[in-house]
This record gives sequence, structure tokens and C-alpha cells, in this order.
Amino acid sequence: MYITMIAAECAPVAKVGGLADVVYGLSRELEIRGHAVEIILPKYACMRYDQIWGLQVSMQDLWVPWQTHKVRCTVWFGFVHGCKCFFIEPHNADNFFNRPAYYGFTDEHVRFAFFCKAALEFLLVSDKRPDVIHTHDWQTALVAPLLFEIYKFHGMPNQRVCHTIHNFAHQGIAGENVLWLTGLCRPDYYYSPDRLGDDFNRTAINYTKGAITYANFTTTVSPQHAWEVRQTEQGCGLGHTLHKHGGKFGGVLNGIDYEMWNPEIDHFIPQHYNVDRIEDKYRNKEALRDRLLLRKDYKPIVAYVGRLDSQKGVHLIRHALFYSLWHGAQFVLLGSGSENGTNEYFWNLKRHLNDNPDCHLELGHHEELAHLIYAGADLVIVPSLFEPCGLTQMIALRYGTVPIVRAIGGLADTVFDKDHSTRYETDRNGYVFNEPDYGGIESALHRAIGLWHSFPDQFRRLMTQGMKYDYSWNYPGRHYADIYEYIRHK
Ligand code: ADP
Repeated sequence: MYITMIAAECAPVAKVGGLADVVYGLSRELEIRGHAVEIILPKYACMRYDQIWGLQVSMQDLWVPWQTHKVRCTVWFGFVHGCKCFFIEPHNADNFFNRPAYYGFTDEHVRFAFFCKAALEFLLVSDKRPDVIHTHDWQTALVAPLLFEIYKFHGMPNQRVCHTIHNFAHQGIAGENVLWLTGLCRPDYYYSPDRLGDDFNRTAINYTKGAITYANFTTTVSPQHAWEVRQTEQGCGLGHTLHKHGGKFGGVLNGIDYEMWNPEIDHFIPQHYNVDRIEDKYRNKEALRDRLLLRKDYKPIVAYVGRLDSQKGVHLIRHALFYSLWHGAQFVLLGSGSENGTNEYFWNLKRHLNDNPDCHLELGHHEELAHLIYAGADLVIVPSLFEPCGLTQMIALRYGTVPIVRAIGGLADTVFDKDHSTRYETDRNGYVFNEPDYGGIESALHRAIGLWHSFPDQFRRLMTQGMKYDYSWNYPGRHYADIYEYIRHK
């Protein structure tokens, strides 16, 4: 099959979060399976240009219809770690992507509406006719309505769209102006609740709703989250629409890149190891302690790696830190926050605990340190309030680090409690708690730290059982290929 990914992010060239990892990882896997894959991205000024090979102009003048005129764009081509990527660079006064950051501007909805339109226009005029166009999150959700309402009649009648929602909290809410800008026009028609009309704000259109309505198939990033968004408030108002289009909606668990996350070849860790040489992992624990100036003591290291966002259960992370210190463990945190209050809190906490030899807080984004923490820690906590999929727990499992997670979204699909699970004992790989309260995380930490101290053999077995799980892109890649095959013939 010929597949085109249209996305706002792709690792490592334009990465903000998990979305970037998924676009890259899935594309690589599909290529390995013999499909032809191309990725279309905005040409951000702030991208990692050092991660693009052979960047060159692919189309000098792409004229994109925009309201009553046309915007000239240049389309660039380059390889990102083997993936074929096209980058769209608009030349207009709005400077949509020539800015110092990926997101965070007041015209977000206009910028990405333009990107959707430009990507389709590029496919049309360059005579590219992919079997499937795969779009991701609200930024590219307008592709499906634009394809089936406009481009289908201009020479793209056979293309199919698969849309993946990575985060329901961001849906793309905009006003009527976007309809006029993109050439959809006809507000009466599109404001219908059966199309793009938002169910809660009658003066708004909802990009993600448009994608669910128009796309041939919509997925989210884990089976459990697919259930949650239909049955609970986690659908953020889209539950009804998902029910209506339930026949073309499902959950596909994300994978992680097994080349990037591999303790046997990881460049960022001093000692390589695998499931048969798991004792070598302890050299990384020593290295982590050296690096973070932690005391060398007979204690497990509990870690948190991730964004410091309320979604991640910040109050539980803080509680886990103190609980671990009081109950015979060390604690390491690597996190970056986008909320001012949270950032300030953790900076104060860092200062407060500065002289504690059992604790280290590193605030900021450090790819290399993240690898060392996954390799050196004994336990990783992921106490999220909601978590569509979550990559941290899968990476931890790959490194033989036992995850402690809340039973939500993709965490519930990937981690199975050592003591309470319907799985066979040999298939259990971590600790799970249900309620997002102090009692929940305390009970899980108590059991995990207790096992580490009192039954090291059992703890070690839990580590190796986790390492045997396959959370690579192998299975999800096959699953997506099946979905593409299915919609292709519809
Ligand atoms: P989300 O996409 O919600 O941020 P995920 O668990 O899906 O969470 O993905 C998080 C990814 O980002 C993981 O690969 C994790 O290691 C990485 N990460 C998060 N915060 C940091 C940080 N401060 N430094 C380095 N890597 C980080």
C-alpha cells in the first residue's frame, strides 16, 4: 500500500510529545512491512534540521487556495532517519511556521487549517494518490472533511482516511472564519451537529468531530482508552459522536521504537544488558547514583520521568516521592512542566531537598538522562489521572524496571499487577492501583518496595517477566495495516 502520514510532529525532527514518536515509529514499521510511506510536516523554523538528511526543494511553487487568493508555498524533501518527509513552507505575512516554537500561538487553528489544505493541495498537484492518508490529532483533523468535500471532486476520488486521536483534551475548536479560509464555506451546512458543529458551543466548529464524521476509520491509542472515551467523561464531549460512528472506531495500542529503546545497544547507558544478563543492570544503577550524587545504599530507586502536568497526577508524584523516602527507597524525578504553578512548586521542592542524599529532582528535558534513569532505576511510577496510552511504562518494562501505574487507559492495557490480576502469575509485570488518591499509590509502593527488600528473587522474576513483553511496533503495525486494507476496499 501507499500511505501518506500528515502530522504536526515526527520524532526526532519535530518532537513535542508522544505523537512524534508514534508518527515516526509507525511509519518505520510500515516501511519494514513493505509499504510505501511518506510523511508530510510543516516546515517549522525551530525544527531539528540536524536530523534531516539531504534536505532539498521538491516543489518550488505550490499555490494553495486560501480564502479569495492563493498562498505560495515551497515544499522541501528530506530523509528523517530513513523516513521520506516533505516539509511545507508557506510564504505569507502570517509566517505560520516560521516561529520560535511549535505551538502556543493565538492563531493555532488557522495555522493548522492551512497546513491541512496545503498538504492536500500538494498531493493533488504532484499527482500523488496514496491509498490511505493517515492523519493525527486535531492539527490535521480537517484533512478528512476537506478531502471528501472538496478534493474528492478535483481528482482524488479513491483516497481513504484513517484518523488517530492521541489526546481528546485538544479537539480544535474554531469559528466560521476557518470555513471561509479553507474554501469549505457554507456555514449552515458545516455547523450541522452531523458534520463539524460542536455539540456544546453552537457558534463553533470542532475539527476532531469533523475527522470522526468524515474519516473512513478513527482510532485512539489503546483499547482501554477507546472504551473510556465512549463510556466516560474522558471523551471530552465526543462520546455521542463516537457512539454514532462506533462501527468505524477502535483502539490500537501504541508501540515504542525498539531500536531507540534497547538496553543491549543504548548509547546513553554505560552498561548494556538483556534479560539473560539482568545483573548487569545494577552497574547502571551505580552510574545513575554517581551522576545524581545519590548515596550508595541498599535501597531501591523509584523514578518518575515525564511531563509535570496535572494529567500526570502531580499530587501523587509528590506524595510518592515522600512516601518512598520514608519507606526505605530513593527517589529520582526527571520532569518538565508547562504550568507555572507546578513548575514553581517543583523548583521549591528541589531546593528544599537539595541536600537529601536519597533524592534528586532534575527539572527540564534531558533525553540522555531519561535513558540512564530507565536503565538504572528499580521502579518507575506513572500515576496519571488519564493516560490515552503512555510510553513511559512500556519503556520501563523494556529496561527491566518495574512499573507502578494507575489502572487507566493504556496503562491498564500494558501493566498487570503482581498480586491481583486475571493474568497467569508468569505474565504479571508490575503494580497497579485503581483510585487516584494517596491510599492507592501508597498500597502499590508499599508492596513494591516491600518485595524489593524482602523477596529479591521474586522482584527479579518480575523484572524479567516485564522484559519479555513485546511492546514494539510489530503488532500495532500489523493492526494498522489491517485497518488500511479494510478501508481501502470500502
Ligand atoms: P506524553 O505524550 O503524555 O507526554 P508519553 O508517556 O506518551 O507521555 O510519552 C512521554 C515520552 O517523553 C517518553 O518517551 C518519556 O521518556 C519522554 N519524556 C517526558 N518528559 C521527559 C523529560 N523531562 N526528559 C526526557 N524525556 C522525557
